[in-house]
Amino acid sequence: MCTVSWLLANDGYQVFFNRDEQKGRALARSPKYFNDLGVKYLMPVDPVGGGSWIAINQAGLSICLLNYYQQKPPEKELISRGLLVKSLISNTSLTKIRSALKKLPLQCYAAFTLLVFPSHLTAQIGDVYAVRWDGFELTTLTAVSPMISSSIALAEVTNYREDHHNAILLPHQVLFSGDGCNDELEIRPTPARVDIDSVAVNIIELTNQRCIDDKNSLALTQFHASHEPAPSYLSVCMHRDDAHTVSFTHLIATRKQLKMNYVCGCPCSSKQHQSYALYPHRETCVAVV
Ligand SMILES: [Zn+2]
Repeated sequence: MCTVSWLLANDGYQVFFNRDEQKGRALARSPKYFNDLGVKYLMPVDPVGGGSWIAINQAGLSICLLNYYQQKPPEKELISRGLLVKSLISNTSLTKIRSALKKLPLQCYAAFTLLVFPSHLTAQIGDVYAVRWDGFELTTLTAVSPMISSSIALAEVTNYREDHHNAILLPHQVLFSGDGCNDELEIRPTPARVDIDSVAVNIIELTNQRCIDDKNSLALTQFHASHEPAPSYLSVCMHRDDAHTVSFTHLIATRKQLKMNYVCGCPCSSKQHQSYALYPHRETCVAVV
């Protein structure tokens, strides 16, 4: 169960990811810097299996992993899907990632969708790709934001969150680093936006305000902290008896910076915000409010 959305702009892209997990699962470790095969990357680590669900490398390529619950897992002993992210993130192109995937014993993995955000991806150049393993074959599609995985009521959850996403997002591409170039654009005052304001205050404060300098980025950050229509299996900040959203990750990849902002815990209430830069300067600033 997860929700991922993204923005493409004139100077790069941003990714927003809510990770949902069963209650009782050990909390993931905060993002760390790694260096494999000479490629540096940032990645949080799930102590269960030692893998991850999202990572960004120094080339500006990012990947994230969604489980594909609707496909029955193979009956043989499984390899954790989380290990895919760690093994693939040192690649610097979609072609290399697909090639690396084809060398793996995919029959030992439960179904998944791997989203690939290529280096130099902008609103004008490149696409976001969904590489899907359905248990039988590997296919690559162009992906459209948002993408949702859910172990229950997938069609209902997807339809609801897509409608919500489309209602709050501006219909125009927005420059991330422009100065006042989008002042004329206003977010439409939908009921959803008004209702999520109170919930979103936390996350906007926590997620490094300096980086959220355009309105669509702000809108998507609010979307990922949203309890519309109520805190439940339908809301993007997901709350069920058995599972809930356990973290929010925000990636920024532009010519000026590569950055990972990370909120540990439910985006609606967590006070743990961390921000990591990979470029131009490696830096870690951890702020616990
Ligand atoms: Zn919540």
